[in-house]
Amino acid sequence: MLTLRALFGGTFDPVHRGHLEAAREVRDALDIEDFRFLPAGDPPHRERTFAAPEHRVRMLECALADHPGFTIDRSELDRPGRSYMSDTLAQFRERFPDDARALVLGQDALNGLDRWHAWRDLPELAHLVVMTRPGETPNYGPELAEALEGRETDDPRDLRRLPAGRMFTVPVTPRDISSTAIRRCAGDGATLRALVPAAVAGYIERERLYGGGVAGDGAGAADL
Ligand code: ATP
Ligand code: MG
Repeated sequence: MLTLRALFGGTFDPVHRGHLEAAREVRDALDIEDFRFLPAGDPPHRERTFAAPEHRVRMLECALADHPGFTIDRSELDRPGRSYMSDTLAQFRERFPDDARALVLGQDALNGLDRWHAWRDLPELAHLVVMTRPGETPNYGPELAEALEGRETDDPRDLRRLPAGRMFTVPVTPRDISSTAIRRCAGDGATLRALVPAAVAGYIERERLYGGGVAGDGAGAADL
């Protein structure tokens, strides 16, 4: 049986309790030995991020400080140019050729996978570990459906028999939290604290990200 290493990709703009709790459930369900949060540097499939990469990493550091099993993988931030997941997973394979590797992503992200650069390579570079998400059901275009066909398994051991190529869904506890909703309410400290760890809420307020901070001074308002 192979060691299983996972990359949990996202913009984490900001990281929230939905990410953290889902990640914990996935790691526990699959006994993943190496679980890395992978903040996107310059994500090509989005117009832009709101907080700068270093702010997004600092928020992850705040969030992960009391989750010792989780680490941050900086490879997309440290590589110049656009961050393509296909490059990241190819690099991950070079680093750990003898281990099994998984890309962890939510159902909404998987539904849109066929918009990613070189997306057909992705299921061959890593297993796909899919987290359920409220309001999101499997919904694949015909080419993506074909690319995923035959990969699905409900036996977690299959993820350690081969280094890549299978797909496994973890039904995580539904949490209706998104970074989009958080960016909209960042000026409201009480709501913020319900959605992100206290250390992340403090960071957002100190750095006045997402239009929060001192009411009326307009800091960051251009980001909304
Ligand atoms: P945004 O609203 O900016 O898109 P987000 O909350 O979707 O933010 P991302 O950084 O886009 O956060 O998400 C990273 C990954 O985590 C994606 O694969 C996404 O599907 C998954 N994810 C985010 N929130 C949840 C959640 N509440 N439950 C399950 N999966 C989630
Ligand atoms: Mg998202």
